[in-house]
Amino acid sequence: MISDPYLGKYITCVSARSTDKEILKKAQDGGIATTLMVYALEEGIIDGTIVAGEGDRPWEPKPVVAMSREDILKAQGTKYSISPQISWLKEATRSFGLDKVGVTGVCCQMQAVRKAQLYPINMRDVPGKVALTVGLFCMENFPYKSLQTIVEDHAAQSLGSVKKMEITKGKFWVHTERGNVATVPLKATHKYEQPGCHVCLDYVSNLGDISTGSVGSPEGWSTVFIRTKKGNEVWSKAVAAGMFETKPIEDVKPGLELLTKLAKEKIDKNRKTLEERRNFGVNKALRDPYA
Ligand code: FAD
Ligand code: SF4
Repeated sequence: MISDPYLGKYITCVSARSTDKEILKKAQDGGIATTLMVYALEEGIIDGTIVAGEGDRPWEPKPVVAMSREDILKAQGTKYSISPQISWLKEATRSFGLDKVGVTGVCCQMQAVRKAQLYPINMRDVPGKVALTVGLFCMENFPYKSLQTIVEDHAAQSLGSVKKMEITKGKFWVHTERGNVATVPLKATHKYEQPGCHVCLDYVSNLGDISTGSVGSPEGWSTVFIRTKKGNEVWSKAVAAGMFETKPIEDVKPGLELLTKLAKEKIDKNRKTLEERRNFGVNKALRDPYA
């Protein structure tokens, strides 16, 4: 097991891409999150999974308990707004009757799943039923209204016309169905971030069984950390079944150097915010779990 102060604990890290052409068509990056859940469903490792599906308004995520390949695929792509995934955790075991639940979510949601497993207050059925967690890297997130302002006011695109959004190379990128590409410098988007993200000390979903994001790998590929015994079992079987192409992370550019740099920047900056809030008398109870 490797233990890194910024990248967390992991068994191995690779650069990877799904081999499923249909999944790749709509994937945000290498289609890892979707392919893993589809594979786990088809192999009986999970009997359903919580994903960030389509909400009522364009690009507004809504947690969904997906129990078919089709429903898992419908949730593809990154929606840069809050999807309260964990609100469905108890319901997945109760109303949906799942015994083996998958969860996809950002770093804070991986933390919430683990908390629910450790202290299952009002979540009695949950601890033994979480069968696979896939965490996403996450630098920041936006309330829906703010996302609307960024896309419609700053990037001058209608949300309904957007095909994909991404944050990379210091900009917020908006790609429309008709081929327009608009960018907004991140300097202009910072003020719209949800304030909770400014005290978040995880960039790479330390607590997922597997965690993934784009940073570190070439375009169209993903960086993948296999973190737990369970994650390793599922990943090894899926690779052996031909679900993914993989490359050693050391063989790709920009590799772990960039990922470490960004993780360190996030953690250092947010530790400062925590300190400022403590000094200001706000969030006195907030502790830095990594200190
Ligand atoms: P796909 O096959 O496209 O599937 C995407 C999965 O993401 C789906 O299962 C869906 O349920 C889930 N999802 C989509 N939106 C949300 C949401 N709002 N909340 C919870 N789950 C969601 N990667 C980086 O490398 N650096 C970053 O700074 C970074 N920031 C991110 C910020 C946010 C708010 C989110 C949601 C993701 C971020 N990512 C970041 C992860 C990256 O954008 C991709 O989600 C990840 O690489 C998975 O891509 P994929 O092709 O494997 O998944
Ligand atoms: Fe959650 Fe942290 Fe991402 Fe904000 S930055 S959405 S708190 S994981």
